[in-house]
Amino acid sequence: MKRRIFGQGLVAGLGLAGVGGAAWATATPAALPVVASFSILGDLVQQVGGERVQLTQLIGPDSDAHVFQPRPAHARLVGQARLVFSNGLGFEGWMPRLLQSANFRGQHVVLSRGIEPLRNPGHGHRHAHGHGHGHDHGEHDPHAWQNVAHVRVYVRNIADALCAADAAGCDFYRQRAQAYDAVLAQLDAEIRAAWAPIEVAQRRVIVAHDAFAYYGQAYNVRFMAARGVIADSEPTARGIARLVQQIREERIRALFVENVTDPRLIEQIGRETGLRPAGRLYSDALSAPGGTAPTYVEMLRHNTQALTRAVAGI
Ligand code: ZN
Repeated sequence: MKRRIFGQGLVAGLGLAGVGGAAWATATPAALPVVASFSILGDLVQQVGGERVQLTQLIGPDSDAHVFQPRPAHARLVGQARLVFSNGLGFEGWMPRLLQSANFRGQHVVLSRGIEPLRNPGHGHRHAHGHGHGHDHGEHDPHAWQNVAHVRVYVRNIADALCAADAAGCDFYRQRAQAYDAVLAQLDAEIRAAWAPIEVAQRRVIVAHDAFAYYGQAYNVRFMAARGVIADSEPTARGIARLVQQIREERIRALFVENVTDPRLIEQIGRETGLRPAGRLYSDALSAPGGTAPTYVEMLRHNTQALTRAVAGI
């Protein structure tokens, strides 16, 4: 069961960590009904909205947004919402049709608005292959949340949207957004400090899919995606051999599986290079509550610790 709906019936079981946990329990019937497309945005919205919002996520923890297909139950949830938050940049290609089929009359808020997007390195190439993995998002790379500076923009966009929809709560939202922004500023500094002792030439990592370009740009780390180098859903022996050779030539030591991507390709590369996968990175979804990365801040902390340890050979 990969895709779940976190509707009212499952709210208690979700038990979001941190600010969110209390919010679920204390949400009043008057709370603003809002929908977030996936778990990472859900956490950000909950951080700002607190108990004044009643949050539903369409794509839950550890679930792959690339293969999500909305169903009538999702349309019902969207139809009841005042605000729908999405990432944009082509990440939720299904959103326009969902809003239409839900007869949605609220505000659709695209959280990446105002950031400088990176171009999608795989665009065109992947399109030509037409493989079924669903990563062909479009012209821009959508994974902007991997750069903390961009997420600070997301948080401002969330506060603006909540203020517009619920003017009585505006001070509340602004205060929470400001407090959370300070946490994000601290997180960004923490990540920079973690990378500082590691030589730039050493900062090379193999991951499963092209989700970390924004992290790489922000913190000066070079990511190679197995799925980007081997651009077929069924990678050929020759494609894998080429990647294995590149890993050897560039003496890359850090190899990771992801929480939303099939680990088999990475495991195969591991066997052929003698590298052991150094752990799991969280790319496009949080972990379930109680897991390693149940919030955005914990996700970035976990990824940074796993990455820096692996490239430093610890
Ligand atoms: Zn992705």
